[in-house]
Amino acid sequence: MTESLRIGVIGGGIAGLTAAYRLAGDGHDVILWERAERLGGQAGAFPMLGTALEYFYHHLFTSDRAIVDLIDELGISDSLIWPTSNVGFFADGKIYPLSSATDLLRFDAVPLIDRIRIGLVTLYLQKTKSWKKFERVTTASWLRRAIGSRAFDKVWGAQLRAKFGPRYDEVAMVWFWNKIFLRTQSRRSPLEKEHLGYILGSFNVLIDRLGEAIVERGGVVKAGVGTDAITRVDDHWVVKTSEGEEIERDILIATVPSPILLRLVPELPEEYKRKLTGAIYQGAITMILQSRRPLSNIYWLNIGDPSVPFTGVIEHTNLISPDHYQGWHLIYAGKYVEQDHPYLTMSDEELFEEYIPYLQRINPEFDRDWIEHYWVFRERAAQPIITLHYSDRIPSLRTPLAGLYLANTSQIYPEDRGTNYSVRLGNDVVDQVRQDIGKSQRDAAQSS
Ligand SMILES: Cc1cc2nc3c(=O)[nH]c(=O)nc-3n(C[C@H](O)[C@H](O)[C@H](O)COP(=O)(O)OP(=O)(O)OC[C@H]3O[C@@H](n4cnc5c(N)ncnc54)[C@H](O)[C@@H]3O)c2cc1C
Repeated sequence: MTESLRIGVIGGGIAGLTAAYRLAGDGHDVILWERAERLGGQAGAFPMLGTALEYFYHHLFTSDRAIVDLIDELGISDSLIWPTSNVGFFADGKIYPLSSATDLLRFDAVPLIDRIRIGLVTLYLQKTKSWKKFERVTTASWLRRAIGSRAFDKVWGAQLRAKFGPRYDEVAMVWFWNKIFLRTQSRRSPLEKEHLGYILGSFNVLIDRLGEAIVERGGVVKAGVGTDAITRVDDHWVVKTSEGEEIERDILIATVPSPILLRLVPELPEEYKRKLTGAIYQGAITMILQSRRPLSNIYWLNIGDPSVPFTGVIEHTNLISPDHYQGWHLIYAGKYVEQDHPYLTMSDEELFEEYIPYLQRINPEFDRDWIEHYWVFRERAAQPIITLHYSDRIPSLRTPLAGLYLANTSQIYPEDRGTNYSVRLGNDVVDQVRQDIGKSQRDAAQSS
């Protein structure tokens, strides 16, 4: 029988909620602190149109087993649906559908020879399971060689630049390989359409259920309460909260981005700190438009035109019917940015004015009168940049300080971060905590 310990979880995103849920289930005294008023972190959703919608567009791939298993375990799998999706590419003032091999052959933004090269490289990456070799080469140099500079600059290079800005040529090929490899896992055959997963009612259905289940298991969930400092005192940790409380915990799991852990625990050993400092994140900004009409018939539209100020248009209601949103069309204009990008601090109104002419470029009929309402959301630690030899720089889940663990998106590798991997991270950190508790209890039994 495992002794009940006092465990603290910092951060109420998917990783923190998963970890708290499992450890409360083990009978420990668990407290979870989430700085924001609502749980869910990057996967969270806000109430709108009688339901809720994610701040940042969200879907699942059919390969996302860890999160689907958790959804089943929590008894909410009735909410999970797998509609078909479609993809497009916007360049030269035109939307090119790009969901199938036939679409690729018709994609005359680049000459036929380039399309064939893109098709062959896609096929090669879809079939390649061993990714280690992709750690040593950047996406830009590998793709330039594989598909040629013309096709690279027009298609994948344009997307890479849009996502990673000035750092686009530092991204390792592992990252790109994973994007192509995973995407294929969402089709049973190349001829079949892609299916993506969505939780009807938003990812909040999962997030709320996890929050309730933690409480049902005896845990405490403190939303709207941040962790301001954590200090080691004798054989335990003292957590200072934004409410001014000081709370003792035997074990702490931080699920916050690496720069926040650095601030919370300045006494971490230098080598571990170097790994935390090495995590560089792109920020993300989404503008959600509540529109009377659809912008296009594409769910996921990549923007290949460098003059457009957003990276992609994700038309949520082309995946999930507008019937779920009182007939409204919901459109995300998404952009990834470096930390000093002016869009992170610009007012929402200025950003809206900046985007409007480009929406007209995507659909010349678009009129601002279509828009009933818009919202802007920003996240600074949205996408860790996967640079060369990344595996050497990942901080371990178990930090060098006794009883302190880290589980954040910078540790997800070789896959790209996503809710599925945050569930897996939550599961993995709990496995380590369980092992360590088991070991210290065995040691204590032996010495007594
Ligand atoms: C634009 C965008 C699109 C995305 N699309 C998808 C998608 O389609 N599918 C998918 O699966 N994933 C997607 N993701 C990724 C996914 O949302 C994240 O990888 C995942 O939600 C991360 O969960 P987490 O718990 O690891 O981290 P987070 O969600 O970042 O949680 C960390 C939490 O810690 C809290 N916190 C920070 N500091 C403190 C403090 N001092 N005290 C207490 N709490 C603190 C934060 O408020 C936050 O809630 C997307 C992300 C973005 C930004």
